[in-house]
Amino acid sequence: MRENIVEYLYIAAGLSFVFAIKWMTAPTTSRRGVLAGEIGMVLAVIGTFVRPEVTQFTWIVVGLMAGAAIGVPLAAFVPMTAMPQRTALSHAFGAAAATLVGVAEYIIREPHLDRFTMVVLGVEVLLGGLTVTGSLMAFAKLQELIQGRPVVYRGQNVVNLAVLAIAVVGIVWLVIDPTATVVFAAVVVAAVAFGVLLIIPIGGADMPTVIALLNSYAGLSAVAMGFALDNKVLEIAGALDGSSGFILAVVMSRAMNRNFRNILFGAFGQVTMSARDAEADDRPVRSGNSVDGAAILDGARLVVVVPGYGMAVAQAQHKVRELADALERNGSEVRFAIHPVAGRMPGHMNVLLAEADVPYDRMVELEEANELLARADVAIVIGANDVTNPAARTEPGSPVYGMPILDVDRAGSVLVIKRSMAPGFAGIGNELYYLGNTTMLFGDAKTVVGSLVSDLADGG
Ligand code: NDP
Repeated sequence: MRENIVEYLYIAAGLSFVFAIKWMTAPTTSRRGVLAGEIGMVLAVIGTFVRPEVTQFTWIVVGLMAGAAIGVPLAAFVPMTAMPQRTALSHAFGAAAATLVGVAEYIIREPHLDRFTMVVLGVEVLLGGLTVTGSLMAFAKLQELIQGRPVVYRGQNVVNLAVLAIAVVGIVWLVIDPTATVVFAAVVVAAVAFGVLLIIPIGGADMPTVIALLNSYAGLSAVAMGFALDNKVLEIAGALDGSSGFILAVVMSRAMNRNFRNILFGAFGQVTMSARDAEADDRPVRSGNSVDGAAILDGARLVVVVPGYGMAVAQAQHKVRELADALERNGSEVRFAIHPVAGRMPGHMNVLLAEADVPYDRMVELEEANELLARADVAIVIGANDVTNPAARTEPGSPVYGMPILDVDRAGSVLVIKRSMAPGFAGIGNELYYLGNTTMLFGDAKTVVGSLVSDLADGG
């Protein structure tokens, strides 16, 4: 009877997760999606409490309280600009749970492990272990606790593959002889080391893809945990997490024009860094103030706005909406060009612009945006940098080379709003700022856009 209740609760939880993912695919239903995910999680926790083999609740309650004590402040206080590192941290927590459960199950069952269970425990600690350190490394890079530039050395792929091979051979060994506890420890150590090696060559613009991949690994580790514990909700939720993270990683690597095989083995940073030190570059740029900017915008038929991370930092989205309204009143047609990795998380710009009530039909994706940019009178780059860097097309040694960018340099005039000549996330200079049709409007995005709105209202 109790087993049946558990199964029903788990099936209901699984369905909630399926609907959560379905609804999260569109901005209009995404809030419902989040709610469905939360309901699924509550049902899964209740289901676990009801399981007949769970007889001691003290440590579960302690764990729930500790999780809530960490999770609630994380949700409430971490700003949206820090969401990728927060997500990386969540992956590390989830994967740590899977790895610890895997180790505990091995210790408890060790002399009597059948082959199937040994395989799933091996996969669980391998994927879990590499996700823990990989995600912590990603967190440290994104939080700028360690340098974000790729660390690349000769023979890197061979070293990475050798460490992975040690773990895989270890698992095969354990399937033949599950009592080899030292080998089990070696698998865990190799997995944890592989996580670090996987992330050190990643830099520049490739971090979003890797975070999606780590998400997938954490999910697959949970599936293995589900098999080991015979827990259906872990199997369902892990499979959803694993497959959706994997699909996202594939889609992002395509969008970024990266070879997916390289991503799997952490070999993308294979670039010779040719970035010039942007701030030390003393070539002159043309700069102006908001009056100059308003004059350039006055009379423009088509204006393409390119938002980036700086708009998020400045929380300028509402002012940007006001600017679009002012331009439209002035007779211009306005579109927002959304690059898939603009900002610091997938969909970052869509979320901010939606918050400022920018209609969805004004937001255009990369391909369409580039068609518009080729015939736009003015492109306004607001706190975006890497996603507009022409080096992606022209400099084979650049860390962003090959990544599709928004071709703002092809617009009639370009206004760039940022505070200084400082580089963006990839840490490299941007040739766009030195082009003849570019005018730099230096300052905080919110302030400069606000001034543009008033200067446009004053007649440009
Ligand atoms: P970038 O990080 O390339 O550049 C942002 C620019 O904003 C900076 O050059 C900075 O210049 C400017 N800026 C910062 N604060 C302000 C402010 N208050 N007012 C005005 N400008 C400001 O951003 P992009 O959006 O162009 O590119 C995103 C980068 O982040 C890509 O490399 C991407 O790969 C990476 N990334 C993306 C993730 C995603 O999922 N979207 C996740 C992780 C990384 P200054 O200091 O001079 O003002």
